[in-house]
Amino acid sequence: MLTNIFSLKPEELAVKMKEQFPAFRYRQVMHWLYNKLVFDPEQMTDLPAPVKEYLSKNFSFALPKIDVVQKADDETAKYRLKLEDNEVIEMVLIPYEKKRTLCVSSQVGCARACAFCATGKLGLKRNLEVHEIVGQILLASAICLPERLTNLVFMGMGEPLDNLDNVLASLKIIQAEDSLTFSPRRTTISTCGLPDKIRQIANSKVRTKLAVSLNSAIDDKRDILMPVNKLHPLSELKEALFYYLNRVNFRVTFEYIMIPEVNMGGEDIKALKKYVGDLSCKINFIPYNQVPDLPYRSPTEREIDEFLSRAQVLNQAITLRRSRGANICGACGQLAGT
Ligand code: SF4
Repeated sequence: MLTNIFSLKPEELAVKMKEQFPAFRYRQVMHWLYNKLVFDPEQMTDLPAPVKEYLSKNFSFALPKIDVVQKADDETAKYRLKLEDNEVIEMVLIPYEKKRTLCVSSQVGCARACAFCATGKLGLKRNLEVHEIVGQILLASAICLPERLTNLVFMGMGEPLDNLDNVLASLKIIQAEDSLTFSPRRTTISTCGLPDKIRQIANSKVRTKLAVSLNSAIDDKRDILMPVNKLHPLSELKEALFYYLNRVNFRVTFEYIMIPEVNMGGEDIKALKKYVGDLSCKINFIPYNQVPDLPYRSPTEREIDEFLSRAQVLNQAITLRRSRGANICGACGQLAGT
């Protein structure tokens, strides 16, 4: 089987091409792929025939195929993508003011079974390969033309830290100068909280922001919402976050999905204040998006207001994040490949 060209680090492609062609041919190819976003060697008009032939014979240029597109009232677009083995994933493109953010998937399904999440109900089918992750980013970049994709969040299907090697390899490719030159401060990996993998990110040469899906600072409640907490309770997660913060120059973001009758009481704020007290972080509060067949409901505007006014006791920056794309099930926790 041919190597998919989008799985190669730029320096790997450079080494391969320099065996046969002058260095500037490599730079031309990179310019077509990552700048002009042209993915067919035959359309790379300034390449001579031997280079086109070399590319076609040695590499696959296959990208995930766009299968279904759904656009929400707020212009958020959810793309159902088919992979080469016919598995299905989703990516969500969110235009908002001057930003165009892509919510990327890292796995087909997810093994972590968070109680509020549609993807968690699917179970894990498989990890995505590097070229399937880079492929989503390139497809979205092409869709955004003539504008640029500005931000990337690993918050689509899957737990990115369960596929961390491929996620970091993808980031390395798209952050490289010869490719998309994506700034580390515009990339965020979101996790349910896997301490060893958080340390691995901190030790990696790839820089990225980190978001932690917290949802409760009370172990008993988090055990129910997020079974990962039974394996790695809040104290263990916090130690790993200190480790990350000591090595990486970004604040951590906590995501807190607001679910009425579950995590929006006075005791929840009290526990949250204690937990985040000494961490360099900000907190995004996200109203829960109802998922069919799950026993939770979205908060009312009044419940959101009351909770946010209680949250004023927190010392950190807090933001109300309204998930976009809710009417096409493209919002947080709603991706299920449907
Ligand atoms: S919230 Fe994230 S980690 Fe939890 S089940 Fe859903 S996709 Fe997996």
